Amino acid sequence: MRDDIDIEYFRKRLEQRLKELTDNQETDRPLELDPSRVGRLSRMDAMQQQAMSQAAGRLAAMEVQRIRTAIKRMAAGEYGYCMNCEEDIAEGRLRVDPSALTCIDCARAADNG
Ligand SMILES: [Zn+2]
Repeated sequence: MRDDIDIEYFRKRLEQRLKELTDNQETDRPLELDPSRVGRLSRMDAMQQQAMSQAAGRLAAMEVQRIRTAIKRMAAGEYGYCMNCEEDIAEGRLRVDPSALTCIDCARAADNG
């Protein structure tokens, strides 16, 4: 358990963010063509909009997954430690993204493939 960071502060931020993401799930609607708009909005436009909202939905689902993992790690006293190398995750990094599960070095290594 980290005693150098305010776990409760990060817990509130995670719960707040999780609520925002789960309140916002109407983006998953199936494709609907509103007959009154078909003249102006082509089927291509509608499909493109649906693809964009599906991509956003996938990103949101990944973030929800990360947040749930972070909250579980809080319960286990493991929050704030890198899941990869077990070093402390810098507080500044957690403030930018409280759902960060790895330290900056491991995140960079992952980005570089
Ligand atoms: Zn690491």
